[in-house]
Amino acid sequence: MANDDFEKLVREAARIIASSQSSVALTGAGISVESDIPPFRGKHGLWERYDPEEYAHITSPRKDPGKVWQMLGELLLICRDAQPNEAHNSLARLEKMNLLDGIITQNIDGLHQKAGSNEVVEFHGGNSTMSCMECGTQYHTKELSLEIIPPRCECGGVLRPDFVFFGEAIPHSCIERSIKLASNCEVMIIIGTTGIVVPSAQMPYLAKSTGAVLIEINPEKSAFSDIVDIFIQGKAAETMKSIMSNIKS
Ligand code: NAD
Ligand code: ZN
Repeated sequence: MANDDFEKLVREAARIIASSQSSVALTGAGISVESDIPPFRGKHGLWERYDPEEYAHITSPRKDPGKVWQMLGELLLICRDAQPNEAHNSLARLEKMNLLDGIITQNIDGLHQKAGSNEVVEFHGGNSTMSCMECGTQYHTKELSLEIIPPRCECGGVLRPDFVFFGEAIPHSCIERSIKLASNCEVMIIIGTTGIVVPSAQMPYLAKSTGAVLIEINPEKSAFSDIVDIFIQGKAAETMKSIMSNIKS
């Protein structure tokens, strides 16, 4: 995208966000790429090395916990060390400025919370807790050593992170909160998601059907790019940084 076009779209997005009464963000793995967390799909994605059917299906942790924990251990250690980038920080700032009602995230990395956002719906669960697959006892991830895998409960059962695995239902409360945010917003900012994982991918369609303006930030086109009002071809952190400097000025 030519620099002029990028600047023009950034200014337009900033104007719309600053003048709206209620914005909501929908974020995917792409927002955390500049925090060095790889996405699942695409180049250097985790799925290049780990087959999701084998490693991330709801039946996987019980079938072969040692094997699944190789992938989970790697992902959780990356998330533990990762820091929010300018995109996470900008969304946290927008919330404080009363310009953002909430974030619907597909990510499990906890970076929105680390950045200071309060209203975060973790659509696919999060990495902050784990549960025993035998007795259900819940543990805080930060209190567990991830050096020895698989981590075990006091009862001897294997723990699993409280992510939503493939084939597992999304918690009803998450769906309800997301529908409320999406159907009441004037603007939806969609950052770094391919838009092919349902039902989270339905949120932009819901927002659009109630008249919201859709703004998308992604270096590549996604399933949403043809329905959005503004598509900014760019990386999450640098684009959000530019949008914020336009909102301030
Ligand atoms: P995805 O992995 O399918 O796709 C990533 C998207 O991010 C692509 O559209 C890509 O073009 C875009 N992208 C890449 N670099 C970017 C950048 N610098 N800035 C902005 N966008 C960028 O992502 P998804 O559809 O969100 O993921 C599917 C599932 O994988 C989700 O449910 C999510 O829970 C999970 N996931 C989460 C994390 C995390 O928590 N950080 C990481 C990997 C996968
Ligand atoms: Zn137990």
